[in-house]
Amino acid sequence: MKRDYYEILGIPRTATQEEIKRAYRKLALKYHPDRNPGDKEAEERFKEIAEAYDVLRDPEKRAIYDRYGHEGLSGQGVSPTHFRDFDDIFTTFSEIFDEFFGFRPRQRGRMPEAGADLRYDLEIDFEEAVLGTEKQIILPKRVTCPSCNGSGAQPGYGPQPCPFCHGRGQIYQSHGFLKIGTTCPKCHGEGYIITHPCNKCQGRGWVKEEKKINVRIPPGVDTGTRLRIQGEGEAGLYGGPSGDLYIVIHVKPHPFFLRDGDDIICEIPISFAQAALGDEIEVPTLKGLQKIKVLPGTQPGATFRLRNMGVPHLGRKGQGDQIVRVIIKVPTNLTPRQVELLQEFEKIEEEKKTMPYKGFWEKVKDYFKIKLQGEK
Ligand SMILES: [Zn+2]
Ligand SMILES: [Zn+2]
Repeated sequence: MKRDYYEILGIPRTATQEEIKRAYRKLALKYHPDRNPGDKEAEERFKEIAEAYDVLRDPEKRAIYDRYGHEGLSGQGVSPTHFRDFDDIFTTFSEIFDEFFGFRPRQRGRMPEAGADLRYDLEIDFEEAVLGTEKQIILPKRVTCPSCNGSGAQPGYGPQPCPFCHGRGQIYQSHGFLKIGTTCPKCHGEGYIITHPCNKCQGRGWVKEEKKINVRIPPGVDTGTRLRIQGEGEAGLYGGPSGDLYIVIHVKPHPFFLRDGDDIICEIPISFAQAALGDEIEVPTLKGLQKIKVLPGTQPGATFRLRNMGVPHLGRKGQGDQIVRVIIKVPTNLTPRQVELLQEFEKIEEEKKTMPYKGFWEKVKDYFKIKLQGEK
């Protein structure tokens, strides 16, 4: 009397493919002959489990089994897999084992390897950082060999199944009833060997190349900004994904603009007379010269804010401001006439008794008066 397949795997009749797989994997690992040497009962269980799984994982066989049971499968000429000997079990088991753990060594010959990420330090001008630009860089890197397409084999001589292990990657040795699998020493478990290595890459599957890459720099980057270019790192091997390229930005200093986040700071020298009398001056901006009004009595260090004349915010709307800071130049190399005029100017100031320092020195006097009294 044959046991019910669902019962063998310990799953309900409504089990999904995923549940069937999971149940099979758990039981197969438990009753695998490698783990139960010489155990006749475990061996029988293992065969039973493998047969149940073979039927239930196949939607067509499963449908027939669900309607007609064991009879149906033989009646319809659809026979469940019968394992003739251990070799069959091992082959199926290792195939399924590989499937569960995501190994695909026997399909491509070699395990896919992901390519490494690369870093490129790129120096750009201040204006390029603010306004954005496009740059072409030349990057020496590992690329998939164009001659063999990464297979490592000469064209016309694809990877051949390893003659030593017949493409299994494993060598099985008999110990009585048991067969023990070990990694094939000839192909190192890959299952394939390359008989004619590619001349261009010596069978590695990759070559070094100087690749030209166009890099779009968005407006608003600054020193330290990292731009990621997907897939432009080192090539992956044997079908593995390529790495990414990271462009690290370095902005060259500007002769008269300074950056503070997304604001641009610019210092403008004006004369003592311009500050005192007021004037209209021109200041440089990234959009050309712009006129601003300096009011009479402007003090050193006074700032003017030009709205939205700064750096665009990186990756979002809006932009910073330009801040103009006024530097007042003290005249040097005076002519006798200038000395004369300044002396006269100073005399009038004293007469007016509105010397700008008067308030300050009064504070100093008061300070010492209080301090001296306090000490008495
Ligand atoms: Zn090649
Ligand atoms: Zn081999």
